[in-house]
This record gives sequence, structure tokens and C-alpha cells, in this order.
Amino acid sequence: MKPKIVILGCGFAGFGAFYSLAKKLKDKAELTVIDSSVFSLSKPILPEVAFGERALNEALIPIGSTIEKFNHKFIRKEVKLIKPQVNQVILTDDTIVDYDYLLISVGAVKDYDAIEGFNEYGYSICDYTQALRFLDRRATSIGKKIVIGAALTKWGSASTVKTLAAPCEGPIGEIMFMLDYYLRKHNRRHETSITVFTPGKIFFEDVGEKVHKDMEPIIKKSNINVVTNKVLKRIDKEYIEFEDSTKLECDMAIIIPPYKGPQFLIDSNLTDEAGFIPTDKYMRHINYGNIFAAGDINASSMPKLGHIAVRQSYTAASVIISEITQKNVIVPFKPEILCIMNRGENATLILSDWMYGGNRDLTLSGKIPKFMKMGFDAYYFYSHGKMPPRLSEEYLSKFLEKCCNK
Ligand SMILES: Cc1cc2nc3c(=O)[nH]c(=O)nc-3n(C[C@H](O)[C@H](O)[C@H](O)COP(=O)(O)OP(=O)(O)OC[C@H]3O[C@@H](n4cnc5c(N)ncnc54)[C@H](O)[C@@H]3O)c2cc1C
Repeated sequence: MKPKIVILGCGFAGFGAFYSLAKKLKDKAELTVIDSSVFSLSKPILPEVAFGERALNEALIPIGSTIEKFNHKFIRKEVKLIKPQVNQVILTDDTIVDYDYLLISVGAVKDYDAIEGFNEYGYSICDYTQALRFLDRRATSIGKKIVIGAALTKWGSASTVKTLAAPCEGPIGEIMFMLDYYLRKHNRRHETSITVFTPGKIFFEDVGEKVHKDMEPIIKKSNINVVTNKVLKRIDKEYIEFEDSTKLECDMAIIIPPYKGPQFLIDSNLTDEAGFIPTDKYMRHINYGNIFAAGDINASSMPKLGHIAVRQSYTAASVIISEITQKNVIVPFKPEILCIMNRGENATLILSDWMYGGNRDLTLSGKIPKFMKMGFDAYYFYSHGKMPPRLSEEYLSKFLEKCCNK
């Protein structure tokens, strides 16, 4: 009997693990991918969807046809429970899927409801419904006092790395720069203020001094006001209020909501208090040897970033491959932050492992990172969820260290 490997959730981590397993195991295992959606959503494109620069379908990758092309199985259903003692996944229609190995990569839940007033007055770009709402609003009136920021996320106790007040501030950076560019292009910047708030002690809490030093003049030149240590309490029609009782006048609030784990994983007793999955450094669940977790759902994925999700999925997949083939091919997990912020005409790339004790902490701004982002987005989309070859990542890293690490 071939071992049965089940992947729950087909985002960055699910695709990353699927391609590694399919390539290395070929027909030595049965792979089943389960996702509640027919499409995998590439979230890095959402800010561009929100600004009307790209159509939503450029962010949607079909899952079923991609998986089936490799002669593996796709089930389009929502998972409602996992029974780890008997190696079973239960779907919402009560179908039971048995597994020998389980990789959980269902991402995090964006908890908009936790913010008082969000449903009436708040905007976001974290999923496609929100990105399209933003696009609609932008078409009519974007407002004169715009506030952008992340709500505080309360993490559980299972993270093995430093936790951050906000799950990921890259999208905040991208939205503020794209907004600045959009308003300048339409000759309306002079009548609009942009204020960014963070619940952290510092904006971009996950990178070091060098990146902050590089970003400061860019933020200043864009005339963006940044306020720190602000924990969002509620959004009203004309202002937002923080836990310290201060308020900011605002006629449009764009928010990254708190993240939490999904209820079905809490019900399955696989998570910490906040719903995230505790694993060891090989992404293996601390209590179940045949369960792995990669991506935003992993308690130690910090910040919640696609690049980290993919790296974790490679490690998890390599451990499963090693066990099945009895060959030691384990890929160690090396965390680093790699992201590119679209700034309209230009972009800024950030590469940093400062948060994990490393010494890389650099930026590259201009047209080159803008083309790199366009290149990555197109590669990921047209290859149906594949990452660029790992060698190109290594070359990029070396190139950046050489030209930016002065
Ligand atoms: C606006 C925005 C911009 C971003 N930009 C960048 C960027 O430029 N670079 C970067 O590296 N990161 C970026 N990120 C972060 C990145 O998108 C996430 O870290 C990444 O998507 C996490 O991947 P994942 O595979 O863990 O989860 P996801 O991509 O969230 O995928 C989870 C999958 O699981 C499925 N699923 C969930 N629950 C169930 C269930 N019960 N049953 C069945 N299926 C289920 C979902 O349908 C989904 O397909 C951005 C995030 C946002 C919100």
C-alpha cells in the first residue's frame, strides 16, 4: 500500500509542499489536496486589485486542474474536524479522508468581526471581497483623511520565535505608498492626509536598524505620518479610537485585522489558545509525529509571510520524503523576511534575517525591484503556484548582499 499524504489548504504552503512531494515521490505515495475553494488566492496581488491595476482573475490559480495534471487527487470541500488519534480528516459533508501523513496549511483567519465598527466603516485588502470593496470606494470618493494600520493580534503561547504586535506590516507599507502615488497621479495628494498607525513599538517591527534607516526618507518624502504604540479599539464614521482613548480623525480606515486560527483546529485539539499549531523546527506537530503544519497556521511563522510559508512547506515535505524514501534529504528551515513593496512607479525590496539573529538587513529601491515583483507574480500565476527555481533565490540573495549591504 502506498502511503497516503493529505494536504489541507492550497495557498503558498500547500502548493509548495505539493510540488516538492509530487516531484520527489512521483508514484511512491498517494497525494490528496483538500481546499474549500476552487482557486488559490495569491494575496500579494490584492493591493494591485484594490487600486484597479490588475484584474482579480490574475490572483486566482485553479487548484483542481493543477493537482489532477500530476495524477493526484483534489477534493473541493471544507474540513470540519481532524481526529489525530485515528488519522482521519472529516469534511463538512461528513466524508472521512484517511491519512498516513497530514500537512495542515489552511492559513489564518482574518478576524474583521473583532474590530468594533469595521463592518460599517472599515476597509481592508486582505481578501478579494475586501479588495473589491476598496476598489468600489476608490472609484467614488477616497476621502481626505486616510488612516492605515494593523490591529493588535493576540498570539497564543506556542510560538518559538519572538511574536509581533501585527501579523504582517508589508501590506500596510504597500497600501500607503500606492495610495500616495495614486493621489499624486490624480493631482489630489495636497488635499489628502495619510496617517499610518502600528500597535508595535516601531513600524516594521520585524526588521532591523538598517532597513528602518533606508525606509525613513522614503516615508518622509511621501509625506506619510506614522504613529506607534496605537492599539485599535473601534472605527467610527469620522474617527478611529485607540485603547489609550486617543482618536484620529478619519474618513477612510484601511485595516489589517487581527489574525487567529480556525475553530475546527481548536476543536481538534491541535492548537494553542489562539488557534495556531505548535511544531518543532521540522514543522512536525509537537504531539503527533505524522502531522505537520506550514504557513500562517504555524505558531512559529512570524511574520505571517508567503516566503516563510513556502520555506516551512519545503522543510515539512522534505521530512515526509525522507521517511518514505529512507534517504536523508531534510531541508532545514532558515527563516528570513523577503518581500517587495509596490510603491507605484517604483518598489522596495526588503531582505532581512535580523529578527532571527542574522546579519542581513537590507533594502533595494527603484525600478529593478518593481520588475522583480512583476516577474515573480507572473511566474507564480502562469506556473500555477510554483516558486522560481531555488537557485535564482540564492543568486538574488548573493547579489543583494553584494550591492546593498554597505
Ligand atoms: C494583502 C496581503 C498582501 C501580502 N503580500 C505578501 C507579499 O508580497 N509577500 C509575501 O511573502 N507575503 C505576502 N502576504 C502574506 C501571504 O499572503 C501569506 O503569508 C500566505 O498567503 C500564507 O500562505 P498559507 O499557505 O499559509 O495560507 P493561505 O495562502 O491563506 O492559504 C490557505 C488555504 O487554505 C484553505 N482553507 C482554509 N480553511 C480551510 C478549511 N477549513 N477547509 C479546506 N480548506 C481551507 C483556503 O481556501 C486557502 O486556499 C500578504 C498578505 C496579504 C493579506
